[in-house]
Amino acid sequence: MKAVRFHQHGGPEVLCYEDAPDPDLAPGEVLVRVRACALNHLDLWQRRGLPRVTIPMPHISGSDVAGEVVAATVPSVSVGRRVMLQPGVSCGRCEACVSGRDNECPHYEVLGYLNHPGGYAEYVKVPVQNLVSIPGEIDFVHAAAFPLTFLTAWHMLIACAALKRGEDVLILAAGSGVGQAAIQVAFLHGARVFATAGSEEKLERARSLGAYEVIDHHKQDIAEEIKRLTNKRGVDVVIEHVGEATWGKSVRSLARGGRLVTCGATTGPKGALDLPSLFAKQLTIHGSYMGTKGELMRAARFFFAGQLKPVIDHTFPLAQAAEAQRRLEESQQFGKIVLEV
Ligand SMILES: [Zn+2]
Repeated sequence: MKAVRFHQHGGPEVLCYEDAPDPDLAPGEVLVRVRACALNHLDLWQRRGLPRVTIPMPHISGSDVAGEVVAATVPSVSVGRRVMLQPGVSCGRCEACVSGRDNECPHYEVLGYLNHPGGYAEYVKVPVQNLVSIPGEIDFVHAAAFPLTFLTAWHMLIACAALKRGEDVLILAAGSGVGQAAIQVAFLHGARVFATAGSEEKLERARSLGAYEVIDHHKQDIAEEIKRLTNKRGVDVVIEHVGEATWGKSVRSLARGGRLVTCGATTGPKGALDLPSLFAKQLTIHGSYMGTKGELMRAARFFFAGQLKPVIDHTFPLAQAAEAQRRLEESQQFGKIVLEV
């Protein structure tokens, strides 16, 4: 098959469009002809290399996949079925998995990250339980752009923050995959959304997705603006994934009893916390990683009904994966960048 692989860490130039062996199916696995694969920041970190993480080489990235089943070791799965893939791969047998908390499985892994080659290829194999059928009216590009970011946003807002109707939510980086998804999920649940972005055009697009007020994070102080816009009260929930650059301002934006949920640290791993304000304001800090398959299926109902819709920034053919990653690396995008295979 054709695939985009890297044989060493480095910049986008290490990505090679080349021949790679077809995946071999083990019992319980399904082979999917990839039609679209969306990019995530995880793809960039793997390619650059991460401290204390050994990425198997040559490596095929890609966690967000949609396509058609072409072979299955499980008789109940029919060839030709149109699917998107649950990006979290877990053992399916441990206490966390059977309790419906598969993202807490000790063997949990994200497709395309370590030992499960991903969707920058013509074919990908996954355990049968990772299939999610998609209806005919949903195209592969949108289907590929849905799972990881909407699953993450859903888990952060609904499971971790237990968002209630009428609450105020601050969502950082509206143009990011998680940002555009979180605005829609929060809006769908009746929250008043405040979103940040780094350009006038992105702020306008955030408004069109449901943001009530927007903040230019290059020109304005996020915490000061939140104070002003909420009449000094602060927000009930902050959706944080930027990390070091915004952490202090995110914490300062919280109202009494506020919850901050974080799923990423794109700008750096350190975040200080003022303990007296943590206990005196009764704040909660949640770490969040992916989400459960049950949550993905629940969020997908709204996707299939047209109430949640991933924003597509740009599509590239698979052979131009390096160019696609460059666009993500330079934060030029609003929404998801998708490879068509
Ligand atoms: Zn498990």
